Amino acid sequence: MADQPTGPMAIGFIGLGIMGRPMAHNVLRAGFPLVVYDLQPEPVDDLAAAGARAADSPAALAQQVGVVLLCLPDSPDVQAALCGPQGVLAGARPGQIVVDMSTISPVVARELAATAAAQGVTLLDAPVSGGQVGAAQGTLSIMVGGDAAAFAQVRPVLAAMGKTILHIGASGAGQVTKACNQIVIAVTIEAVAEAMVLAAKAGVDPAQVRQALLGGYAYSRVLEGHGERFLARNFAPGFRTRLQYKDLNIAMDAGRAYAAPLPATALVHQLYGALMARGGAEQDHSALVTLLEELAGIK
Ligand code: NAD
Repeated sequence: MADQPTGPMAIGFIGLGIMGRPMAHNVLRAGFPLVVYDLQPEPVDDLAAAGARAADSPAALAQQVGVVLLCLPDSPDVQAALCGPQGVLAGARPGQIVVDMSTISPVVARELAATAAAQGVTLLDAPVSGGQVGAAQGTLSIMVGGDAAAFAQVRPVLAAMGKTILHIGASGAGQVTKACNQIVIAVTIEAVAEAMVLAAKAGVDPAQVRQALLGGYAYSRVLEGHGERFLARNFAPGFRTRLQYKDLNIAMDAGRAYAAPLPATALVHQLYGALMARGGAEQDHSALVTLLEELAGIK
């Protein structure tokens, strides 16, 4: 199939980064004809070598496929790829479905869905959780907002990339769910980091504290995975601090837009800002512990 990449069965993929590239490979592997676009030539060449066709612009890509998938960094990138002069909507036909798998603002997601709908195009928001490993293994959790019939139509494509695939509700519901996910993870990282710093300052072995907590009600995957990173001093990404900061920005914006006070998120957002300011942007988000250690005078 991969040698005939156009037609209603064909899938377009825009944004072939850490997440998008392995996700696109999985779509291709599942047998869907694939057309790809990215600002960088290297990942496009990689997908082309695996059997995908390269498009010159998002508009040209949209003309060749039935469904367009996006996996871009942030709201302005998705706005540009969709609504720019050579954007997806410039090439899209009424009835086409666009699935935005980026993590962006729910407010922007709703606005973009309305813009697409005015052209007869259905936009679903479908952010993912599970990281680079989940993307490579096709085991992502995919949380979808938007039209239920369109969701049913694209489900087989999403199944090539994810394991837990949930239609959460109307447009924006997927991005709201992802913001909730990021709040829980970031605030938990901060809590676990504080606990580890207290243990160290009190002269108690943080490894033993973690072990004890893992067996009780304080268990969490953050305590398990990131707690281990704290102990091993392993802050290689993983999930970069600048993306964690971006996602907390999104959560804070959503809190303002929907009048939900997020006091703990606001604090952790500021702490991640401080970690970025002292050069941690490209470190794993577990590196928050180093900031708390500094505050505590731990060398
Ligand atoms: P990335 O920076 O590695 O990749 C983004 C890709 O988009 C790059 O290849 C870039 O060249 C391309 N791009 C940017 N603007 C473009 C445009 N206008 N047109 C075409 N291509 C464009 O980012 P990533 O880590 O793959 O993350 C993508 C999204 O997935 C983000 O919203 C992120 O928050 C989310 N996410 C990431 C992870 C993770 O662990 N990395 C986990 C879950 C969700």
